[in-house]
Amino acid sequence: MRRLIISLILISLILLPLRADEQMADVYFSYENEDKRIALTFDDSPHYKYTAEILDILDEYNIKATFFVVGQLAEKYPELILRELAEGHEVASHTWSHAHLTMLSDKSLEDEIYATEELLYELAEYRPTLLRPPEGKYGDNLLRVAGKLDYEVILWTVDTRDWAHTPTETIVNTVLENTESGSIILCHDFIGGESPTPAALREFIPKLIENGYEFVTVSDLIFSAE
Ligand SMILES: [Zn+2]
Repeated sequence: MRRLIISLILISLILLPLRADEQMADVYFSYENEDKRIALTFDDSPHYKYTAEILDILDEYNIKATFFVVGQLAEKYPELILRELAEGHEVASHTWSHAHLTMLSDKSLEDEIYATEELLYELAEYRPTLLRPPEGKYGDNLLRVAGKLDYEVILWTVDTRDWAHTPTETIVNTVLENTESGSIILCHDFIGGESPTPAALREFIPKLIENGYEFVTVSDLIFSAE
């Protein structure tokens, strides 16, 4: 019995550092670079009306963006997800149900992330690698689970607050005043009621291009430079 206890203690001593070494996900708010590369991102995707309109605008200016999709909306409008991918945009995860992640157990967190991943794989044999927690709220539990599932956590530095029906001109000013090389800009394609976002995009995208900025996907911004 004593031997067994000693062996158990030894085994846990060996396993302890392994546990502490568990890969936590990295968190990115922006990614500094010298080439004026920036990333435009859309949360709560897709929306039956605005996603198509936004894709048309991105196509017009020939730029790429990143869509953080809600699994249960993607299930409802798969054709919009397929269009995002077909047009060269990055599709990333915004959980299955737009859940408040800080309240969830590791198991529920894993389910929220994995259900969206499975749907995207079934739909397009595509696996997302980036996760944006709803409302940008996260704790160690999310970093641990996201790390285990091989995701990086992406937040933002420029917040348009378009979801709150911020006037178009305010959004344009916020973006133009705060964008710098490496910025990640947060917009939404799903907005309840009238969206100020398409009109704002038509104003700030050409101005940023004129100022020498290059719009790339979040993965291109962060990982093509590493
Ligand atoms: Zn959201």
